[in-house]
Amino acid sequence: MGLIHRINVGDAELVSLQDSWAAIPPTGFFNTTQPSDWDAYGELLDEDGNITLNLGSWLIISQGTTILVDSGIGGRPVEMMPLKITPGLPDVIREAGVSPDEIDVVAFTHLHFDHTGWNTTDVDGKPQPLFPNARHVVQQAEWDFWTSSDELKQGAGYDNVLAPLLDAGLIDFVEGEHTLTSEVVTVPTPGHTPGHVSFAVNSDGEAAYVIGDAAHHMVQLTETDWCPSADVDPTTSTASRRALFDRIEAENALIASGHFKFPGVGRAARTDGKRHFAAS
Ligand SMILES: [Zn+2]
Repeated sequence: MGLIHRINVGDAELVSLQDSWAAIPPTGFFNTTQPSDWDAYGELLDEDGNITLNLGSWLIISQGTTILVDSGIGGRPVEMMPLKITPGLPDVIREAGVSPDEIDVVAFTHLHFDHTGWNTTDVDGKPQPLFPNARHVVQQAEWDFWTSSDELKQGAGYDNVLAPLLDAGLIDFVEGEHTLTSEVVTVPTPGHTPGHVSFAVNSDGEAAYVIGDAAHHMVQLTETDWCPSADVDPTTSTASRRALFDRIEAENALIASGHFKFPGVGRAARTDGKRHFAAS
């Protein structure tokens, strides 16, 4: 089963939840990089020379509201990701002490398949919402993009993970800096996808950012212009990544990532003037 890691941010609690993980060749994932580009980052690669891509979600428990940020890769077969463990986010959520029907809000950073997979599970062959009591908060721009053609709908697994929520009236469409609680605010970070967002948590003088896919790997704190092939608009994603890490560094905030090696918690630090990820 996937792992669990809890942190406190002021009065809010954040829990890193692992759905699954994969090991991927770095020049395959960051397809504009060459093997020599990674010479300086050997310590960020595993013994086989691969990067570790965690597939995780975050719980934010703030002011009595239980928020799940993204819903993992899901329980249906996935061909394009060589997974190391069977995805099991529902059990991981329960292990963290929360029942899926106690989730008040599912907030999406974006609608890629590895962030929406557990929106539903199949019951008698039909996809049913796994979080039936949650408002599912989606950026309008993100929804408009993924529903703009049959091809994109298919890519987003529309029939399995989005349509059932829409049919059940569980989706709230929002725009921009939407407030989830007075401690949790949406921060637009477009580029990976058109409506991609991160979430800022500010409580009792402490700050954290759940960064979604504004970055996928810790190397991107240093190499902010390294973009995975999955970034829809690399120029915009680079600008968003830079601005977000500048803000995180200026605020000495915690980074909470679903894709960095588990648990994906750390800060922006500098050595010889170069910014890098410091796990904490
Ligand atoms: Zn992702």
